[in-house]
Amino acid sequence: MDCLFCKIAAGEIPSKTVYEDAEILAFYDIEPQAPVHVLVIPKEHIPSMDGVTPENSDVVAHIFAKIPKIAASLGLSGGYRVISNCGADAGQTVPHLHFHILGGKPLSLTMA
Ligand code: AMP
Ligand code: ZN
Repeated sequence: MDCLFCKIAAGEIPSKTVYEDAEILAFYDIEPQAPVHVLVIPKEHIPSMDGVTPENSDVVAHIFAKIPKIAASLGLSGGYRVISNCGADAGQTVPHLHFHILGGKPLSLTMA
């Protein structure tokens, strides 16, 4: 499948890994919007939040169980924001489900 994040998950396109296990990958965003900007993705292709179903939501729960540990490993003791853009109006640019972790400064009430 011609999907950027599937290729990153498969190691076909390099990324700066923050955390990885059999189901998920966390890596630094190439265009950071905050001092710390990491993306967390399921390795399985899910196009967006709209593609989450009872059948595949275990990996989403797994991502959310790992996010606090990833944030702690990034030193985000002051707090952080988790965002998933779904669809055109939200500005989703990569059609593979991903969660942004943003932090490292007091964030404004926009995306970062
Ligand atoms: P979104 O706009 O919510 O779909 O987020 C997509 C994110 O992917 C953006 O923040 C991009 O900067 C980021 N991005 C695009 N290509 C890469 C890449 N090759 N490695 C890391 N992050 C990327
Ligand atoms: Zn994909």
